[in-house]
Amino acid sequence: MANISGRCLCGSVSYSGEGEPVFMGNCHCTDCRKSSASGHAALMAVPEAAINMAGPVSTYELTADSGATVTHNFCPKCGSQMFNTNSNIPGITVLVASTLDDPEIYKPAATVYASRALSWDQADPGAEKFDKMPPMGG
Ligand SMILES: [Zn+2]
Ligand SMILES: [Zn+2]
Repeated sequence: MANISGRCLCGSVSYSGEGEPVFMGNCHCTDCRKSSASGHAALMAVPEAAINMAGPVSTYELTADSGATVTHNFCPKCGSQMFNTNSNIPGITVLVASTLDDPEIYKPAATVYASRALSWDQADPGAEKFDKMPPMGG
């Protein structure tokens, strides 16, 4: 079991817990690019029950290509993107790995939406590539 903790830029929002990530991957989709204000988002999915969230978050809902409702949760004060939830994968919290206290525990195994990677932010050659979303196992 890994200790998982993190916080936003200003410290108003934090999380901590213990558990095993169920998925770790970089997503290059347009939504992740915009929300992360970067070339891709580093996403670490963990069981919702493993993580305790603290501090107020603002939310933004959008409809993904899959038709799922994705809810972005971010710090209302400093704007750090903290975690997402997806209506197609209930019970899972998708942490934005950039907010981890120890970002090196994030080991991306997959590149999602590799087909949308920008010329200046190419897919990790060591990670398994998916043109779009990988099958989520149900
Ligand atoms: Zn903040
Ligand atoms: Zn994405």
